Amino acid sequence: MCAYKKIDTVCPYCGTGCVITCTVDTEKNQVIEAKGSPRGVNNEGRLCLKGLYGWDYLNDPQILTKRIRQPMIRKNGKGTPLVEVSWQEAIEYAATRLKAIIKEYGPDAVMGAG
Ligand code: SF4
Repeated sequence: MCAYKKIDTVCPYCGTGCVITCTVDTEKNQVIEAKGSPRGVNNEGRLCLKGLYGWDYLNDPQILTKRIRQPMIRKNGKGTPLVEVSWQEAIEYAATRLKAIIKEYGPDAVMGAG
């Protein structure tokens, strides 16, 4: 028997902020469909092609699927294998590295993007 769950989220591709309703196959823990949510004030149930089909990388084993589901760090530096870590360790690692960069190069040396 298949079990599906509908989950609303916000499209990450541009600043419009369309609300997407994802259908998730709960047995496989995979998104199998995305539609525009009527709850989206900006999109009123519609999506562009990126919103409709841009989620397929989530199920592609050739892309960084593992890294999307679990934080990973190259603990031994550039070129070494990625190692799964807890969210707490990943956040502390990123905070420590960002603070070191800011201390050495100033606050204009870092930026955030989403
Ligand atoms: S569905 Fe298209 S228009 Fe809407 S947020 Fe995503 S990329 Fe932007």
